Amino acid sequence: MKPRHLVIAFIVALAAAWGLLSPFTITLLCYIGLYALVAIGLVLLTGVGGMTSFGQAAFVGLGAYATAWICSSPEAASWLGFLPKGLYPWVGLLLGLVVTALIAWGLGAITLRLSGHYLPLGTIAWGLSLYYIFGNMPALGGFTGIGGLPPLELFGFSLATPQALGPVIWAVLLLAIWALDNLLDSREGRAIRALKSGRLMAESMGVDTSRQRIKLFVVAALLAAVSGWLYAHMQRFINPTPFNLNIGIEYLFMAVVGGAGHLWGAVLGATLITLLKEELQDWLPQLLGASGNFEVIVFGLLMLLVLQRAADGLWPLLAGFTRRVLKMSPDKRTLAPAGEVRLDHHALPPKGEQVLQAQKVTKRFAGLVANNEVDMDVRAGEVHALIGPNGAGKSTFFNMISGVDDPTEGQVRLKTRDMKGKPSRAFAALGLGRTFQHVRLLGERSVLDNVALGAHQRGHKGWVASMLRLDRAEEAAVLAEAMRQIERCGLGAVADTPAASLPLGQQRIVEIARALAGQPAVLLLDEPAAGLRHLEKQHLAELLGQLREEGLAILVVEHDMEFVMNLADRITVLEFGTVIAHGSPTEVQANPRVIAAYLGGDL
Ligand code: ADP
Ligand code: MG
Repeated sequence: MKPRHLVIAFIVALAAAWGLLSPFTITLLCYIGLYALVAIGLVLLTGVGGMTSFGQAAFVGLGAYATAWICSSPEAASWLGFLPKGLYPWVGLLLGLVVTALIAWGLGAITLRLSGHYLPLGTIAWGLSLYYIFGNMPALGGFTGIGGLPPLELFGFSLATPQALGPVIWAVLLLAIWALDNLLDSREGRAIRALKSGRLMAESMGVDTSRQRIKLFVVAALLAAVSGWLYAHMQRFINPTPFNLNIGIEYLFMAVVGGAGHLWGAVLGATLITLLKEELQDWLPQLLGASGNFEVIVFGLLMLLVLQRAADGLWPLLAGFTRRVLKMSPDKRTLAPAGEVRLDHHALPPKGEQVLQAQKVTKRFAGLVANNEVDMDVRAGEVHALIGPNGAGKSTFFNMISGVDDPTEGQVRLKTRDMKGKPSRAFAALGLGRTFQHVRLLGERSVLDNVALGAHQRGHKGWVASMLRLDRAEEAAVLAEAMRQIERCGLGAVADTPAASLPLGQQRIVEIARALAGQPAVLLLDEPAAGLRHLEKQHLAELLGQLREEGLAILVVEHDMEFVMNLADRITVLEFGTVIAHGSPTEVQANPRVIAAYLGGDL
């Protein structure tokens, strides 16, 4: 038995039982479906993408109000007079989606720039604003709302009752889960997951993080708007209350309690919170002898408990339990055979050609000169080492030549192009691959998945293609390429292991494999030998030697002198931000200034 079979069994059971359920249960199931539709957007946004939003209810409101306005206002009727009445809700859906996309895009462009706690605070701000706009626009019925909305009609059937509308709600929900599940299992899905670990790593892999964040935000908002549209035609009456901040927070509860990293967790969370709310609203006021929304307090306590005891929510626990009880094997990846699609391919520059060049690069932090007119170049087919005592400015220089930061003065050229002001993904696109001094991998994802992220910019299939599974041939090529690099770096045995469970030394090699999957012309390695055992260092040296043979330009920042001296063709030595020596290992080792700088060191 596979998880997929369980999903099918769930759908069949739900469909079979539909006719037998009481109207009350059916209505509850409709609400659960509507809430889950919003919560899966939050799973994507918050759980996977790392952006917390308290304001999703406002987007539900946009979807609901758009259709309510179209179906009730005389102006809309005078414009749409040529259409049969039954089509008005569909025009409402269209308007809702367009307005939501525009507003989400605008809000996203402003809010998503905010970092840390300011982002959730920003979402509270616009959640509140939209609520008051709904309440204060006379055309939208003010706080009394709009009534008398028509039911949906589909192929001539009226969906006036929850019995009739419910299957549509659940079909939309299941379709959305299918599409998002596909999205997460694709090139774009890897890019979305990478967002959570900060911009630096994702941008260095060629991911446009601002664009991905906005898209994520818009998709989550559109799901909420569809939920609002269905809600309006189920209730046939709307007012601003269901779209206020409280409810926005409840949606977040659903995602977090269910399991913010799992799409099905949203369905579980929506079910639990809806049922619990129903129960609590019955007996909490009796118990406390007063009326009020006391359930919110219980939800808050519940969320604290879940975050304490099961930070990933309840879904992983339930899924793990079910897997054990039913002895399930995981769904296998099904991929088209590789070879049908070729990934982007750049020819390597001829050996000896300058690939990366820094001219008089100066970086000042306030009064401190971290890099002082540093000149250096890296050529195809050589290993160039950058060494120097702690605080010499090596990491700063690394940032200057990889687009993480801009030099105060001086010039960086990559393949003869001036890179002034370019972001690191532009460096990646031109063929610069890098690793990080402090390893930056997606710890819970497999080695294969991590390495495949490195090939991101060599593919082209976008969000829609991924959602509709039209990316399989390209995805197969990406995974085949990732697997090739994994084998080449000697990681074949751990390809399916989560990256975080490997020893640090191997994680560094995974980073190299990831950089290689981008097919770089120049490879920048920040302390690749740190944390490696003797034998691993030998393997690394062999690998780098082989890459040099193939014509890669390699720059290593490294502390391990034995490693550097045996491997490097040329060495540049930095001290206090200034180049104090440059030459072959023998020349550098004999240089009196270098010996003085390292006095007491092990050079
Ligand atoms: P290394 O990598 O060679 O150990 P760094 O490039 O990290 O050296 O640092 C060089 C100098 O620049 C140090 O004195 C460090 O304190 C300073 N420095 C580095 N980054 C910053 C920053 N963002 N702001 C202020 N000073 C910095
Ligand atoms: Mg450093």
